[in-house]
Amino acid sequence: MSAHFSDTVATVDPLVAEALVNERQRQEDQIELIASENIVSRAVLDALGHAMTNKTLEGYPGNRFHGGGQYVDVVEQAAIDRAKELFGCEYANVQPHSGSQANLGVFFLLLKPGDKVLSLDLAAGGHLSHGLKANLSGRWFEPHHYGVDATTEVIDYDELEKLAEEVKPKLLITGGSAYPREIDFERMGQIAKKVGAYFHVDMAHIAGLVAAGVHPSPFPHADIVTCTTTKTLRGPRGGLILTNNEEWFKKLQSAVFPGVQGSIHSQVLAGKAVCLAEALTDEFKAYGAQVKANAAKLADTLQTRGIRIVSGGTDTHIVLLDLSPKGITGKRAETVLEKANITANKNAIPNDSPRPPEWVGLRLGVSAATTRGMKEDEFVQLGEMIADLIEAEAAEDTDATIERCKAQVAKLCAAFPTYAA
Ligand SMILES: *Cc1c(COP(=O)(O)O)cnc(C)c1O
Repeated sequence: MSAHFSDTVATVDPLVAEALVNERQRQEDQIELIASENIVSRAVLDALGHAMTNKTLEGYPGNRFHGGGQYVDVVEQAAIDRAKELFGCEYANVQPHSGSQANLGVFFLLLKPGDKVLSLDLAAGGHLSHGLKANLSGRWFEPHHYGVDATTEVIDYDELEKLAEEVKPKLLITGGSAYPREIDFERMGQIAKKVGAYFHVDMAHIAGLVAAGVHPSPFPHADIVTCTTTKTLRGPRGGLILTNNEEWFKKLQSAVFPGVQGSIHSQVLAGKAVCLAEALTDEFKAYGAQVKANAAKLADTLQTRGIRIVSGGTDTHIVLLDLSPKGITGKRAETVLEKANITANKNAIPNDSPRPPEWVGLRLGVSAATTRGMKEDEFVQLGEMIADLIEAEAAEDTDATIERCKAQVAKLCAAFPTYAA
């Protein structure tokens, strides 16, 4: 057998092999609270690391531009069938390489350059692929944004309705990456209809919660839905596009390929099929319910400790902190948490500075730690540690607190291990 087929990465590339080993160990040793992350199953990893990656295919199952596609057709068809069953819709395109690519496919389907889009403001929790000036979506279309109510920090639907009537967008988009509250899809669907806009729900962050039945579904209110298979859905890096519109669907297939993508990532489709099957189980429903319970407990614990929670709580996996009353930035909080082996990220909050180094928000998400098996008791411990670390950082006296929390984190990590070595 040629070395090409037998030598492992440790033999062939020690630099990369070491980084891989270190990354695995980092994941084992840190408590992951970055809201966009999760920990996929061993089964999903098996699919992702498979020789199916060698297969080049363009087109769709049964209608490919290359031969030899029969087994990839099996996994793509399974992913399509499972996505439709899971989200209760008629049509699914499972090929987008990422969430941003899924959105690009929708824009390519529905918009022409210069068309108006109305989406959630980035500082209110929106996503860069919904019209940020530095993103293609903000350059090629005309972005307008709605925000949240200054007091409740929840989407102000009356204000949105007024804005929609004024702007008359071609596309109304909702969904975001730091919006911790349930979204009223029904109301937004009515607003879109009233102003003659298409209604696009990007449920990237909450797809797993929708799948588990702990967040309302965007169907039947949305015209088109996108999501990532990462994040709460707990699958490989990639995207999905879902719709009930048969006429659009035919055009959507060509908007994805050859519109914005070429060949498929065959092995990722296998990973998507596996994660979608997992998401159809009762175990996953229980996981979704635990995610919600853990986030609520984390928010309660922090609030009791005097930390301001944006919007006063959470309906999802996200807890967004406002550190301005503590006088520290999100960046400082992120750094002190990381020293204690808790990972999270600085984030803008409503009306925050446009400059990331000045942001006063810290975004926490419970999905990954919940996958490790942590429940309410552990999230009380985490909330107490996070509050201690923030207070220590504000007092500029962190050493002892970091050491104590680091030891407590190590115990939690040992009690809730991930993959067998
Ligand atoms: C994460 C996210 C995306 C982008 O997904 P990528 O796979 O990182 O491109 C798009 N929309 C929303 C709302 C997201 O949260």
